[in-house]
Amino acid sequence: MTRKILRLYPALRDDIGDLVTRRPLPGPALPRLGAFLFLNHHGPQLYPPHSHGLPFGPHPHRGFETVTFILDGELAHRDSGGHESIIGPGGVQWMTAGSGLIHEEVSPEDFKRRGGAMEILQLWVNLPARLKMTTPRYTGLQAEGFPVVRESGAAVQVIAGEYHGQTGPITSLTGVFMTTVRLTAGGSVRFDWLTGRDVFLYVVRGAIAIGGVTAAKFHLVTLSDGEAVEIAAEEDSLILFGHAEPLNEPVVAHGPFVMNTEAEIHQAIADYRAGKFG
Ligand code: MN
Repeated sequence: MTRKILRLYPALRDDIGDLVTRRPLPGPALPRLGAFLFLNHHGPQLYPPHSHGLPFGPHPHRGFETVTFILDGELAHRDSGGHESIIGPGGVQWMTAGSGLIHEEVSPEDFKRRGGAMEILQLWVNLPARLKMTTPRYTGLQAEGFPVVRESGAAVQVIAGEYHGQTGPITSLTGVFMTTVRLTAGGSVRFDWLTGRDVFLYVVRGAIAIGGVTAAKFHLVTLSDGEAVEIAAEEDSLILFGHAEPLNEPVVAHGPFVMNTEAEIHQAIADYRAGKFG
């Protein structure tokens, strides 16, 4: 059985100051999609010269992972685990907050000075109870660090997991599969091995169709169960496509902390205030 579209979820506009932001997840009709908790779509927009750039100064996280896709512009990351990088277009950073760290996600100084195009996606992936307090990890890779599989008018950037013999450089602690896919109008892509997986599919640009049902940009889709999905591009398109093992645990989220219980949230706040996040 190939999967069909069950429902479309439009991203809701929620700008952060001058940063154009759309959020398809969580939404009023979809609190989360299995392990996939949250997606912010920043931009596309043009920063003028001498801007303040991205507004994400130092802040903590615990209990999940942030996966950030730099589509355009640059992102400077620094965290209390000692990781530092500036990632450009096509790059991805995968940060396991685990037991907790403090990071900043800002624009590099020269980008702020000269301005430029900016578009970034940030996805939050939950961790199961057994991994919530795992040691923090960070991998930041530029575009050339990822294999791209090209066929049938599709270019699949393999980030985590395996696709047509190519393995992504990120090894997810929970076996998350993650790609971005660029399609030319009339192109198509098929993903298999989906039985029992929670599939995440967001249309960043353009419009795609699955089983004759169209999903346009700025929409997240949910799919019926099935072994495979066939995605056809109605326009030149860019999609975020991943899947994960179902996660059936209670979720208690409070700002930058995502835990299983209220008590664990109180502990996270107390630990952060006590300076235990580094
Ligand atoms: Mn953050």
